[in-house]
Amino acid sequence: MLKDFFIGMSQNELLNKMAQKYGFKLGAQSVVAGTNVKEMIESVKELNTHGISCTIDNLGEFVSDREEALEAKKQIINVIEAINENNVDAHISLKATQLGLDIDYGFCLDNLKEIVARANEYNIFINFDMEDYSHLHPSFDLIDELSREYSNIGTVIQSYFYESWENIKKYKNYRLRLVKGAYKEPETLAYQDKRDIDRNLIKLIEYHLLNGKFTSIATHDHHIINHVKRFINENNIPKEKFEFQMLYGFRKDLQLELAKEGYNFCTYVPFGDDWYGYFMRRLAERPQNLNLMIKQVFNK
Ligand code: FAD
Repeated sequence: MLKDFFIGMSQNELLNKMAQKYGFKLGAQSVVAGTNVKEMIESVKELNTHGISCTIDNLGEFVSDREEALEAKKQIINVIEAINENNVDAHISLKATQLGLDIDYGFCLDNLKEIVARANEYNIFINFDMEDYSHLHPSFDLIDELSREYSNIGTVIQSYFYESWENIKKYKNYRLRLVKGAYKEPETLAYQDKRDIDRNLIKLIEYHLLNGKFTSIATHDHHIINHVKRFINENNIPKEKFEFQMLYGFRKDLQLELAKEGYNFCTYVPFGDDWYGYFMRRLAERPQNLNLMIKQVFNK
């Protein structure tokens, strides 16, 4: 029920506009690393000092206006330049709908090409975040086209989808982030029961660790993390073949602990004005996240 409520809120355009207009409040600053490149780079530098690398998300999604998509492209290229200039350990996460997938496929492809080409000049990796099912196959098509020319790209497999198993086999030669899935999907397409989603995530992780290129295990779930730790020991998986990932602001102690234990660790660092949808999805995943955000508001 609460999940549906927050997912509904995340897609409410009016609330999204109001949130942008009335500023960076409601505790979003605890889970979003600032509203501009300078603030974000400071956060990345701080995480780097702990041996943690970052994947940077210049927040934005479901763009329906060409100008807005072109502006998003410009901003992501600015982030690529900032990563290079500041010599920080970071790469990019982006969403195809931010670059115009809902406007026109060819327009989106051109925008992405420019971004991937610029990142490629600096050997910076670009991760295509995965959105809801309606964008899944068009996103894979974009990746297929771009990978004819570039190898600095990878994507995400969401374990709630029944078809995740076919997709992971098809994309096993890519660097993949494996997650449970953050959107509301129907029973015809996706597991609804948490136990099925968790079980499938473990299966996907084990498959990609054994057969894939590089695995980003993106979860805050210590049961899954502990399982993976045992699995990599039993199967002698080298540490260079995988990393753990978590979102900025969540389970900070566990993030530091894993980095200290010598695992590759990467924090997903979102920043920018368009934080509302991201923020609401985090509440949908775990309503207790509200506590984290309320604490932040009253500590200020
Ligand atoms: P949950 O299933 O939410 O929680 C499982 C258990 O873990 C909880 O019961 C609790 O015991 C523990 N736990 C979880 N969070 C906390 C916490 N904050 N404090 C204490 N204990 C906690 N989804 C997409 O659809 N597409 C993407 O591209 C995508 N990218 C992502 C990138 C990263 C780096 C991460 C971390 C997630 C991403 N997601 C993405 C979201 C993902 O699909 C899940 O919705 C989200 O991570 C919640 O699932 P979980 O595995 O973290 O744990």
